Amino acid sequence: QQVSTGSLAHQKIDELLREAHERYSDVDDGLLAHYIPILGHADPDLFAIAMSHVGGSVHEVGDCQHEFSIQSIAKMFVYALVVQEHGREVVRERIGVNNTGMPFNSVMAVELNNGHPMNPMVNAGAIATTEMIPGRTSAKKWENVRAGLSAFAGRQLTLDDDVYASESESNERNKAVGRLLKSYRRIEGDPLAAVDVYTRQCSLNVTAYDLAVMGATLADGGVNPVTGQRVVDADVCRDTLAAVATSGLYEHSGDWLFEIGIPAKSGVSGGIVAIAPGKGAIGAFSPPLDIAGNSVKAQLAIGHLSRAMGLNLFASA
Ligand code: GLU
Repeated sequence: QQVSTGSLAHQKIDELLREAHERYSDVDDGLLAHYIPILGHADPDLFAIAMSHVGGSVHEVGDCQHEFSIQSIAKMFVYALVVQEHGREVVRERIGVNNTGMPFNSVMAVELNNGHPMNPMVNAGAIATTEMIPGRTSAKKWENVRAGLSAFAGRQLTLDDDVYASESESNERNKAVGRLLKSYRRIEGDPLAAVDVYTRQCSLNVTAYDLAVMGATLADGGVNPVTGQRVVDADVCRDTLAAVATSGLYEHSGDWLFEIGIPAKSGVSGGIVAIAPGKGAIGAFSPPLDIAGNSVKAQLAIGHLSRAMGLNLFASA
């Protein structure tokens, strides 16, 4: 029996997911990220697409149970937790919501803006945001980050020790950004401790299935549609998605919004999660990246589904 999930039936969603997977599985454009050494060893053929509906159903095709490190996608969920804790205006003042127009790990962007990080999706803003997570010690902050992201996913997420080790050995630039923020007094405590919690949050393992559920929690006004747990308030979801729309896909954020029309966040390990407010979210994963650092196949798959399902927020018909 077909159960209606708003305007799209379950069966139709499964069909569209299969179609997108089939259509793009042979695409072999893009390159693996190498600046975090271990990411250069990923299997380029992995390809997963999952969709979680606010009604609680989750649909999947491909390697949806394959775990990979969440990387920059964590920024979106940590930001939501921090806005929930401190309120939108405090966080807006401290972190900002405008695109820097520069690469995500730019030191220059921090310098040019008098130490203000500008937005939570670049590394400077994310490190400063992570520092605002409640907890008197970094161990406590890390525990809160992990618990918060696990609530978004509806399961206990775990650290990928190898990714954490690889990234900790190669994150001189993030340490520089942290120290620069400290020099401008944009960070209160030890900048390297903030960078360490940030590095851990990037090293949390997720699947495309998890990304879909985590995104659908934002689409569902902060309630995880699978577990029924409230993670953050609806206003926090609205503010988080607005911030993500300006800068979720690195320097291609404007192109993405123009083409696809829904907020999305990507990470250098090859994941993207796209959120259709009030409807659901699509999590997609494929390691090879385009020049800006966004997964080539994940973008194609989400674009296809967004068009097929009429998800573009700017379309009136
Ligand atoms: N952990 C990575 C970094 O800070 C995240 C990069 C990304 O996914 O954009 O460099």
